[in-house]
Formats: sequence, C-alpha cells, structure tokens
Amino acid sequence: MHRAGVDALLVSVGSDLPYLTGYEAMPLERLTMLVVPRDGDATLVVPRLEAPRVVEQPGVFTLLPWGETDDPVALVAGLVGRPAVAAVGDTMWARFLVELLGHWPTDATRYVRSTSVMNDLRMRKDVAEIAALQAAGAAADRVAAQLHAGDIPLVGRTEAAVSADISARLIAEGHDVVNFAIVAAGENAASPHHHASDRVIREGEVVLCDFGGTMAGYCSDITRCVSLGEPPAEVADAYAVLHEAQAAGVAAGVVGAACQDVDRAARRIIDAAGLGEYFIHRTGHGIGMEAHEDPYMVEGNDLPIEAGHAFSVEPGIYVPGKWGMRLEDIVVAAADGPLSMNHADHALVTLG
Ligand code: ZN
Ligand code: ZN
Ligand code: ZN
Repeated sequence: MHRAGVDALLVSVGSDLPYLTGYEAMPLERLTMLVVPRDGDATLVVPRLEAPRVVEQPGVFTLLPWGETDDPVALVAGLVGRPAVAAVGDTMWARFLVELLGHWPTDATRYVRSTSVMNDLRMRKDVAEIAALQAAGAAADRVAAQLHAGDIPLVGRTEAAVSADISARLIAEGHDVVNFAIVAAGENAASPHHHASDRVIREGEVVLCDFGGTMAGYCSDITRCVSLGEPPAEVADAYAVLHEAQAAGVAAGVVGAACQDVDRAARRIIDAAGLGEYFIHRTGHGIGMEAHEDPYMVEGNDLPIEAGHAFSVEPGIYVPGKWGMRLEDIVVAAADGPLSMNHADHALVTLG
C-alpha cells in the first residue's frame, strides 16, 4: 500500500477477500468488507448472522459484526479517517461504493482499483498455489482423457447433454464447482463462447470442448477438440497450424518476455498460414482463484512475465458457418521455463 500510495484498501465480495483472509463471503446485499488502513490493523466487517462462518485469524484481522439496524457503510467509513486514496475491490457492489461516496466525497478522496495493491500478490503464484493449479489441471486432464478415449458418448446426443456429462465428470474428478463446460459441434464451434444447446451432435463433425472448474480454491481450464470420423483435409490442415501456434505460445511464455509476446508467437503462425482473420480473440488470460484474472496475453500488454505467473495459452481458428477449433493449456512461468498444468493429448483425436 505504501508503494502504491494507497491509504485504505476496501475489499468486499470476490476472490481478494478469501485470498487475504481465508473467508469467502456470500454475495449478499448485506455488506461484508475487509478494511485495511495503510498504517493500522485490518478489520473484517461482516453481517452478524454470517459471523459464525468466519474463521478468525488473530494477527490478520479483527472481526466486527454489524446488526440488522446498523449502517454498515458508516461503520466502514468510521474505521479509517478520510483517506486521500482509497483502493476498492473490482467486484464490490455499486450500491456500497455509492454510499461510501457520501462519506468520502471525491473532492478529498481519490478512488483507485484494488488491483493497484493486489495484482502483484495475486499474479505471482507461490508454491502452494502452483500445486493447487497442478491438481486442478490434472483433474481436468483426466476428463479430457475420457473424452479422447471415447468414454463420453457424443454422436446422437445434444451439446447440452454432453456438457452436463463433462460437468459431472469434473466433479467426480475432484472439482468443487464447475465454472463452465462449453460443448460446440460443427458450425457452432465458430462461436468461441457458444452456449451448449439442444443441437444434436452428428457423425463427421468436429466437437470443441472447453471446460473447467474450481478445486480447493484454484481453477482449471482446458480446451480439446475431437473429430467424429476422419476430418476433411481443410480441417486437418488448420488443426496442424493451431497445434503449432499453441506450442509456440507456450514456448514464448518465459520469465522476462512480455505478455504480448505469447500472443504474438501464436498469432504469427496462424497469420503465416493465411488464417489470421479467423483468430478473433486474445491468446490467453491469467488464472488462479478466478477463471479469468490478470495477466492477459494480449497485444498491448507489455507487462513482463514473472516466475509464478499462471495463464492460459488458447489460440483458436473460427470459420463462421463452418467449423471452429481451439487448443488450450494452463501454463505457469518458472525460472527454468514454462510449466504446463495440462498434459492431455494435444492432437485432434479422431473418434468413431
Ligand atoms: Zn474463454
Ligand atoms: Zn477454456
Ligand atoms: Zn481459458
């Protein structure tokens, strides 16, 4: 906070709170807020009825429960004198920020995002966090292996049914929650975030599966495609380009490179193959307690990659109305090179 010039840090619902305190707040209309003055002690303000769920951490924060007739925002404002700079969490509800503005108007308080304080901490994963990402990645890999082995029936089922099947398997493999299970067949795969529908999967199609969840607080995220029958040459050739681009993106994720270098490495190969117009999104996103968090692997992000940075490398090629494909692994930058959290087969596995 000293380095960032922040006088007060206010963290409400979202993952900064469990990161700092071990307590995950319910996203309720009743305010929960960790209040950290730059030179004082931290206070966790919680609704009284939620207080029993908090595991107290003496030396980290003091617990301050508020009752149903209290004004919790006034309570928060009273814990800190008038800060010149207040850092507020990205996912604090607007209603609380609006009320806070009544106590600390902008003529004397400047508001900044809590990322100014939290990003350095959150992006650089420590040994325990990397182990958690590895465990989540291995669990997602086991579901990908089931997909590749043909254990998950595809032909004749709807995308939605396969999505539910994959979700159940993520839980069976140890995830606590499923964050998403995109299943997109044929032309639907040309929409990167296609919502699994009642569309029935047919012989001869490429099916894109992008799934992940949270396991012991940390996220998995993997994309694999399978071909139901021998793929046409156009698809097989494009997949070879995608495979090479993804590997190049992973290889570029070294300590000291810029985040945008990962994007450039993958994009260069897809561009060179004449398919650049079909790669319509950034190459990757950071991952940790959230499925998408800093740092982002995108042109314009010159942030240097540091040891412990965890991110996806997921180039895609999407031909509208025809087909789509994406290949995604989670990678953690380490002193001796990129460490992949995913080891499932990278090939376009042919089934049936
Ligand atoms: Zn995505
Ligand atoms: Zn994904
Ligand atoms: Zn992803």
